[in-house]
Amino acid sequence: MNMAGSPKNIALLGATGSIGQSALSVVEMFPEKFRIISMTAGSNIQRLVEAIERFHPKLVSVASRRDAESLKRRFPWLMVGFGVEGLVEAVILPEVTTVLGGIVGSVGLAPAYEAVKRGKTLALANKEVLVVAGELLMGEAQRSGARIIPVDSEHCALHQALRCGARSEVHRLILTASGGPFRNRPLDTFSSIRVEDALAHPTWKMGQKISVDSATMMNKGLEVIEAHWLFGVPARQIDVVLHPQSIVHSIVEYVDGSMIAQMSPNDMRFPILYALTYPERIATPMPRLDLAALQKLEFSPMDNARYPALRLAYAALNAGGTAPAVLNAANEVAVQAFLERRISYNAVVEISARVLSHHDVRPIDHLGKAFEADLWARQEAQMILPSMEKPKPMTTLSSAPA
Ligand code: NAD
Ligand code: MG
Repeated sequence: MNMAGSPKNIALLGATGSIGQSALSVVEMFPEKFRIISMTAGSNIQRLVEAIERFHPKLVSVASRRDAESLKRRFPWLMVGFGVEGLVEAVILPEVTTVLGGIVGSVGLAPAYEAVKRGKTLALANKEVLVVAGELLMGEAQRSGARIIPVDSEHCALHQALRCGARSEVHRLILTASGGPFRNRPLDTFSSIRVEDALAHPTWKMGQKISVDSATMMNKGLEVIEAHWLFGVPARQIDVVLHPQSIVHSIVEYVDGSMIAQMSPNDMRFPILYALTYPERIATPMPRLDLAALQKLEFSPMDNARYPALRLAYAALNAGGTAPAVLNAANEVAVQAFLERRISYNAVVEISARVLSHHDVRPIDHLGKAFEADLWARQEAQMILPSMEKPKPMTTLSSAPA
């Protein structure tokens, strides 16, 4: 329980990432409202050190034991953990009331679950955890009374728009998608897409994994699944529309035909602040939208041939059980292989499709089943990878590095 007037005590997971850094900027803007109790990072230790010096947390956790030991030597007063256990330690500290999930991937599931189990507020950017174990997390939240408030901009928009009517009055949810960097690229040139092309998102500056997911539209697929679990709306009532400006973040259409859309600048500090202050709204010095300067907002239908990942995600959601977890894990492996330049852009979604097609769907009735499905899909994707790898460029003796 947070006393009115006292600061909210935050565990920030993924402090060195795009969401983490935006969250720290929000915390710095309102020092009387928020306090960082713990933070975690993977391996970007220099950035974590800067954050420790700025925010003086009680505990930090990193991916490896070696980095944890070197941090402990540098900050002897600090509690330091590592690995998944360290992530869980960061959220279960009794003084932590709010957990901001800004890690990327299903590795964020264990700490998210522990937070929800203890009734803590989960401000969630890390959508993969809802894709992997949405039913369990939402069920646990209902049992413990924990709030799960989305940070993903589309879901933040839906969360706000859903405050305008009863759930039984909702006709459909409409998620907007910018279309990513390849919205107008000729399909016959997709085989030559490079990593840097896929990372050049037209409207958002984000981490690498979500940038590739936005290019393939897998991100929107994961978001459809996320919306299903967060708001309890069936897949057939969730649509996606292209909206290149990323100003309308999503829309709720009510049964009477009214559409309630939410707009704000494309700056993740808006949804982060909303999630951290909900149900309040507070005045901010952040830049406002200038609608007259924007002049136009465009919408167009989804292009399923260009973005096969979206259909795949709907298929996984409709299959239920372990299917979304399998899709997510296969995609994580494939995106990583693409970022390492081992596979082509087109192979990313193909690998996920293949893994999903090999999978026997099971129910997820406890967390172990979700982890099992995640691991199975990773192994399966790793097995498929070699057959999809690009041939290594030929190096001659004269061009080989000395
Ligand atoms: P990012 O890659 O910039 O940051 C990821 C963070 O997680 C980093 O701090 C990294 O150190 C940490 N991390 C990664 N692997 C880890 C591991 N194994 N153990 C511990 N920590 C680990 O990613 P991001 O863009 O900030 O995205 C984070 C999450 O938020 C993703 O799920 C993404 O889909 C979601 N999201 C991001 C944005 C955005 O604008 N960046 C918008 C909406 C949703
Ligand atoms: Mg989003």
